[in-house]
Amino acid sequence: MKPFSQSDQQKEEVEAPKKAPPRGASLAGVHYASLYDACQRKFHMKYNLGIEEKWVDKALIFGSAIHEAKAVWYETGSEEKADNRGIQEIEDRVDEFYSHEEANFCHERVRPLMKAWYQSYGYRDLEKYKILGVEQEVRLPVPFTPGYVHTQRHDAIMEDRESGAVYTFDTKTASSSLDFTLNSVRLSDQVTSYNWGGMEVFGKRYKGFIIDVQYWSTRSSNPHTIKCQRSEPILKTEHEIKMFQANIGGLFNEIQAKERALALGTPSPFLYRKNTFYCMSFFRKCAYADVCPLADRAILKRLPDHLTVRETDDRRFDGLTYDNIYFGEGAI
Ligand code: SF4
Repeated sequence: MKPFSQSDQQKEEVEAPKKAPPRGASLAGVHYASLYDACQRKFHMKYNLGIEEKWVDKALIFGSAIHEAKAVWYETGSEEKADNRGIQEIEDRVDEFYSHEEANFCHERVRPLMKAWYQSYGYRDLEKYKILGVEQEVRLPVPFTPGYVHTQRHDAIMEDRESGAVYTFDTKTASSSLDFTLNSVRLSDQVTSYNWGGMEVFGKRYKGFIIDVQYWSTRSSNPHTIKCQRSEPILKTEHEIKMFQANIGGLFNEIQAKERALALGTPSPFLYRKNTFYCMSFFRKCAYADVCPLADRAILKRLPDHLTVRETDDRRFDGLTYDNIYFGEGAI
């Protein structure tokens, strides 16, 4: 299928899978758009001011370790190498955990979770599928939004050896509800986005997005309670994909317009609205809650211990520095 009409130059910009940059490095992916939708204020603090949490939720690091282990499994077929890679990820990121107890907790759980998965799916996958790529990035120009490229990172792209059908396999680790995880991903924009990328690269051979869930309740230490389950292949309609393209194009146009307004001196609260429904999502206080009501300059001067300013130059507002942003009078 084709996205909304684009220039030939834009069409040529669609990039086939290639090795992805480090996890979390892409800016204009599904998570970037989702955060803008969830809370614009948080989006502004994270992407414009470059403020991030120093510590990362253990579920995210554990999920990353399982992703890494599975990538090595698909590349080598070696349980030992895959397990070691997953454990290495935990050890490399030990300082990002809130506590050493959390790091140890995750460290102990990589091998049992992977063992259950090898037995459920890992060996079968190597027989049934040809691995076309792991941790592969696909870049797509966003229609009618020059300068924005939508990025996706497919955990595994595999081809059925018999039928030739190509699928995206996406790993999710779950600790509270397997069904909830499956259903929330089924309904998410990630599926539509990756369907778009899969169809652009593989055409009619692309047959869908498969959610690959590994569930283990954090309250249990018994590996027999681990469950591995996959969704059916999910393939959105052409109309749904065009709707997604239109939505993301609109969203990026809005973001661009706000960047220009911010550069011209509009105070950020006029541009990036709070969404207080999101302040306690996932049963946890938003990490930015303590500085959220402050003006930008005050936020940067009064960062609590758990926040830091990212040491990169990839903030979205070109040509601006913290000194020349308009912060509003008397706000500090
Ligand atoms: S505290 Fe609430 S309103 Fe403020 S950034 Fe976080 S989610 Fe948004």
